[in-house]
Amino acid sequence: MKQWIIAIDGPVGSGKSTLARRVAELMGYIYIDTGAMYRALALKALNRGLSLDADAELESLAQATRIDLQANSDAGAGTQRILLDGEDVTTAIRTPEVSQAASKVAVNAGVRHVLVAEQRRAGIAGGVVMEGRDIGSVVFPEAELKIFLTASPEIRAQRRWREHQQKGDQIDLQRTLEEIRERDKRDVGRATSPLVRAADAVFVDSTAMEPEEVAKLVVMLANDGLARRATK
Ligand code: C5P
Repeated sequence: MKQWIIAIDGPVGSGKSTLARRVAELMGYIYIDTGAMYRALALKALNRGLSLDADAELESLAQATRIDLQANSDAGAGTQRILLDGEDVTTAIRTPEVSQAASKVAVNAGVRHVLVAEQRRAGIAGGVVMEGRDIGSVVFPEAELKIFLTASPEIRAQRRWREHQQKGDQIDLQRTLEEIRERDKRDVGRATSPLVRAADAVFVDSTAMEPEEVAKLVVMLANDGLARRATK
């Protein structure tokens, strides 16, 4: 039986990565973090001093860039190592500066075209949990299960702030909230592949839910659907 494509979309800090990683682990699927690809490209653009709205240059840069997402099970289930042209950038792509740059780079239609083609190649065989902003709407509109995960901006800012605190980065909560609002605005407002809930996506508000509860819910939906297909 064909394994499913599970698409998880939602805004910054909604818990997509935790959810996608856990669902992949519970189902024995591969986890693909598409945001890491926009981040890696943004890091390369920043390192080269490219303007983040130089459309043609960014598209050429995307075409000439190799981004690999490798499983890194030594660092825990579902953990990935991100390689940019062979160099490990797993930590370097998680700074607030790269977050903002990634959301600017992601507005570019040419860049999206290149990265979406990569994402389709990586997921087309199924057995994947892919997270991003446009997975259920653009990358895999045919995905068997689509989740649109959200939470209030305040809770999302707290989660992001806590993640940085745990890593020892001193960042301001109010500033984190403002940055989340800026990225939300850019993701929702862009002309190409804006963040939208696909019509057939299951809407999950994680504001008052524990991560494990959300993961169990998604796995239940997937197993239910798979069982129904098997009896058809
Ligand atoms: O998910 P994450 O916050 O790591 O993604 C970084 C940025 O990449 C987002 O702010 C968003 O603008 C962009 N992105 C996107 N489409 C995706 C994944 C991420 O536009 N599928």
